[in-house]
Amino acid sequence: MNMHWADKIAKDIIASQKFTPYWVDDMKTPSGYSHIGSLRGPLIHSVIFRALKDAGKEATFTFVINDFDHADEFPPEFKEELKDYAGCPLRAIPSPIKGFGSLAELLAQDLKDTLISLGFEAKFLSSWDLYHEGKFDEVIRLALDNLTKIQDIYQKISGSQKAKQGWLPFQVICEKCGKLGTTRVYAWDGKEVSYKCEEDMVTWAKGCGHEGKVSPFGGKYGKLPWKVDWAAHWKVLGVTIEGAGKDHASAGGSYDIAMEIVKEVFKYPQPFKLPYEFFLYGGKKMSSSKGLGLKAHDIVKFLPPELARFLFTRQDYREQIEFNPVGNFTIPDLFDEYDRCWKAFIAGGDENLSRTFKLSQINKLPSTTDLFLPRFRDVAINLQNKEKDLVKKFEETKGSKLTKEEIDLLKEREKYALIWLKQFAPEEFRLEMAEKAPEVELTAEQKTFLKEIIGLIEKEEDADRLQQVLYEKAKEMKMDIKKAFSAIYLVFIGKEFGPRAGQFLSSYPKEKVIERLKEVTK
Ligand SMILES: [Zn+2]
Repeated sequence: MNMHWADKIAKDIIASQKFTPYWVDDMKTPSGYSHIGSLRGPLIHSVIFRALKDAGKEATFTFVINDFDHADEFPPEFKEELKDYAGCPLRAIPSPIKGFGSLAELLAQDLKDTLISLGFEAKFLSSWDLYHEGKFDEVIRLALDNLTKIQDIYQKISGSQKAKQGWLPFQVICEKCGKLGTTRVYAWDGKEVSYKCEEDMVTWAKGCGHEGKVSPFGGKYGKLPWKVDWAAHWKVLGVTIEGAGKDHASAGGSYDIAMEIVKEVFKYPQPFKLPYEFFLYGGKKMSSSKGLGLKAHDIVKFLPPELARFLFTRQDYREQIEFNPVGNFTIPDLFDEYDRCWKAFIAGGDENLSRTFKLSQINKLPSTTDLFLPRFRDVAINLQNKEKDLVKKFEETKGSKLTKEEIDLLKEREKYALIWLKQFAPEEFRLEMAEKAPEVELTAEQKTFLKEIIGLIEKEEDADRLQQVLYEKAKEMKMDIKKAFSAIYLVFIGKEFGPRAGQFLSSYPKEKVIERLKEVTK
């Protein structure tokens, strides 16, 4: 069975009959500008939501912004300006940029905009608002009345000795200094909680020493600590499906604790468990080499939204995604893979590929009429070679006129190919045919090879086939393939290596290419 991973999950969920009504949820703490990898969770949920709907089921999809969480670290750009607010709830910290009610709103809006542009369908909810609307009052009471049970769950699952630490499952906002991350709640009398704002409880913020007693209800003076809070959201909203990244989903981790609390304390069924793998990227190389910090909001600057979504829909949630697009062909390869899925969609071929394509679309599906897809890599090569008439060039490749749809697609790829060439392409790819034949040493064998290929170039119209015949010629001459191709690069760009020779040579006027070959082999 060649089923897409999201359809398999939807099938399992439906078959179990345990997770109705279907309510898919995910959440995020807006503590900084989200990085590109943090899109994986939301998009996994989005794809599963679509799979449930496509299976004919009613489903709800929410995304909770955990804006009641405290800040323990600030994004580097605001670090200095906001340093006095460490420990405060994100929603209570002023926005360093005008036009937003709080830091949480600024950062959440940034993520929401990106998600929406990627076809994300969830309804956004604010945790702060839910608490202030009193929606958490019931679970707060349950948590505090069952504090020993919660302490025991922590002990049993993670080994954390909460009872010994005098820890109670509530976090108070200090009435004096406004901090949430520095307070320790030590008593609950059925009506109010007693707390102390500790000076040195955490390293990233200083408490003021104030002691007080407040009502835990209504959101004014605090919230549940996050693992309890996570479970509480499931019950308050009615969530039945929520995945978690590997970091939270490890044995004894927060996902397990929340799962146990929801069942034992809140008496609510555990949601469908879905631990998913990491999204890795090229570390420093990626962020520093081009001055290009890859934030979530950057992805739609260098990929069309469907391609950005595709990056997350094609990979099984149990597999790591390694994304390192700088200095290599990751992005052209991604386009090739996308086109392969698109062709399967048009031809009604491989179900998994075709489905991946469908799940990557933002709005409506394109038509299934046969379509010529201008290869991204070739668009880039032609641009690199200052090809003036791309439409003409691709009409040659296609062998007939491009339709309006195809021209639009070509234009879109042109836009993203320029970005790729400028910011991501490997150095050696950013090459142009040297005006004059470079002064290079060729072996006799290389000269013979170059002489031999003149006839091939004269005959061959198709770039891919040219690549193939060049390769075959070298083999026929029993030549080292690398040496053969380097001969081409040497006389055209003066380097030992270069872009795919067939594409490269085809992107220049034939007579210019032949003239150069004749010149260097005479
Ligand atoms: Zn305080």
